[in-house]
Amino acid sequence: MKLSLVVPCYNEEENVQRFFDETERVFGGVINNYEIVFVNDGSTDKTQENLKEIYKMHSDKVQVLTFSRNFGKEAAIYAGLSSSKGDLVCIIDADLQQRPEVVLEMLRVMGEDDNTDCVTAYQENRKESKIMSGVKSAFYKVINKIADVDFVNGASDFRLMKRTMVDAILNMSEYHRFSKGIFSWVGFNTIYIPYTVAEREFGESKWNFIKLLKYAVDGIISFSTFPLKFVTAIGLITSFASVVYLIAVIIQKLFFGIDVPGYATIVVLVLFLGGIQLFCLGLLGEYLSKIYVQVKNRPIYVLKEHLGKDD
Ligand code: UDP
Ligand code: MG
Repeated sequence: MKLSLVVPCYNEEENVQRFFDETERVFGGVINNYEIVFVNDGSTDKTQENLKEIYKMHSDKVQVLTFSRNFGKEAAIYAGLSSSKGDLVCIIDADLQQRPEVVLEMLRVMGEDDNTDCVTAYQENRKESKIMSGVKSAFYKVINKIADVDFVNGASDFRLMKRTMVDAILNMSEYHRFSKGIFSWVGFNTIYIPYTVAEREFGESKWNFIKLLKYAVDGIISFSTFPLKFVTAIGLITSFASVVYLIAVIIQKLFFGIDVPGYATIVVLVLFLGGIQLFCLGLLGEYLSKIYVQVKNRPIYVLKEHLGKDD
């Protein structure tokens, strides 16, 4: 059985060599047949040079894929999975926040039951502010209510998969890749094991609150049409309410005559309805923009170089 590690790297110059060394140390004597597929996601620092160094020394077990620019982690994962040759594939970050020791644990759990197709590590206790973890668990509550597939809070893309599952994921060649959703959409038997995220020692996280928010919206739009149905419902309810109000106004006019005041009502109604309409348009636009990009059928990533590719 061959194991592939897929490692997306974006500006990880201090980390790639450490990652390689640590993996060698931890796997040493335990796992003999493995390869590491580094995907350089358009890094602007010395990541590429360092990866080439590693490749020069260990071309027997290393592949280096280099993108022509930054395409994002999801694209890097897709590229890494496509080039991986293992019967088992594990996606793992380059910054050593996800320890190689956990991969051994995943392998052990995978080996316990032939029916297991995927072992996913989830963060048991997050090292983040109360507000952040509150926002995250609210997001998971919402998306699990409205999406077609299940999302597990704290489970990231740090997971070990069998080849059959990897192939299923590769078959989903959609442009907007929300991997958490893709993993659960393809199904298969998944076991969740807890792990603790290590501190990032070098380099910095590529996430901030705005990026996370955008990612969350992308996830909802990619895996749920509920927002569309929701605005249809809002439209219906406001239409119904306006018919009721219209009847009230006509009766008022016929039987009591209308006294001119009503300025506040008009202003409030115009603003409220205008707001709702713009919101609905914007929401439609979100879906439309996704369709627009998808129908152009652009590739998920552009490869500049591939070291260690089979001839
Ligand atoms: N990454 C990537 N492309 C990007 C952003 C991140 O390949 O555009 C990689 C990054 O090099 C790292 C992994 O994805 O190996 C996780 O990124 P990061 O550590 O910033 O995320 P965090 O651990 O803070 O969630
Ligand atoms: Mg990290």
